[in-house]
Amino acid sequence: MMEAMLYSKRSNNSVVCRVCSLHCLINDGERGICGVRENVDGTLYVLNYEKAIAMAIDPIEKKPIYHFLQGTKTYSFAAVGCNMVCPWCQNWSISQGPKPDKYVNGISIAPEEHVNRAIRNACPSIAYTYSEPTVFLEYALDTMKIARDKGLKNIWVSNGIMSKETLNAIIPYLDAANIDYKGPDDEMYEKYCGGKATQVMKNMKQLQEAGIHLEVTTLIIPGINDQREQILEIAQTLVSGLGQNVPWHISRFFPAWQMENVAITPLDTLIMAYDIGKDAGMKTIHIGNI
Ligand code: SF4
Ligand code: SF4
Repeated sequence: MMEAMLYSKRSNNSVVCRVCSLHCLINDGERGICGVRENVDGTLYVLNYEKAIAMAIDPIEKKPIYHFLQGTKTYSFAAVGCNMVCPWCQNWSISQGPKPDKYVNGISIAPEEHVNRAIRNACPSIAYTYSEPTVFLEYALDTMKIARDKGLKNIWVSNGIMSKETLNAIIPYLDAANIDYKGPDDEMYEKYCGGKATQVMKNMKQLQEAGIHLEVTTLIIPGINDQREQILEIAQTLVSGLGQNVPWHISRFFPAWQMENVAITPLDTLIMAYDIGKDAGMKTIHIGNI
């Protein structure tokens, strides 16, 4: 096990993790919400370092990133865990796998090996994706540094609730990001996922200001965020926060995990969302998962 980055020791052997904005207070013998950071005798360890759970060579458009290294393949990998608990998670078996105290699965692959695999497969970039790269920060960051040295680009696909310290750590090695933005409603975030919408927007602004190529994805989920007024609010918040030029991906929901019984997002709803986004002033909108 590797000692975790970004935590503070407290009294009684407890620690506070500062990797994401949830700032879990973790007592001795316990784990944080993500299930992959464990306090052992007052030291915080990261349990998913060098434990790859998924690897694939994807078209970059699958991330989705449509306006950076277009038409190329990206070497993509993940370790288990996520700091959110979205009941619609399409990748729940790996994002929720280690919670609350389950085995942290994965095969041993060193950061250098991921970079070598990307190069061998003619991928000009590496994507940290599928689960939540924030909670495999140490693994991602070590890989990003080697990738940058070898001339590869680094892409994060993230829910966007990392801490400012984590953003500051990754930004020097990061080239592009797709951030999942579920809507501007903090209550909705807290009720279903954890985290806050305002934190996601703050982080997206920081990425943009740092010159990182940014694209945004919103999964339109029936009964959660599919009403006209809700979509209008999402689009208007994105335009006022990030401007008109950030590509917006409207993504279709398919039944998954705790929402197996919810219907697929109707195509008409996605088209309505597209029109709403255009009316709000967005210049680039893509409908995905159709
Ligand atoms: S990464 Fe986030 S969820 Fe995980 S222990 Fe740290 S603060 Fe908690
Ligand atoms: S943030 Fe993404 S990976 Fe994490 S639980 Fe939600 S949908 Fe799944």
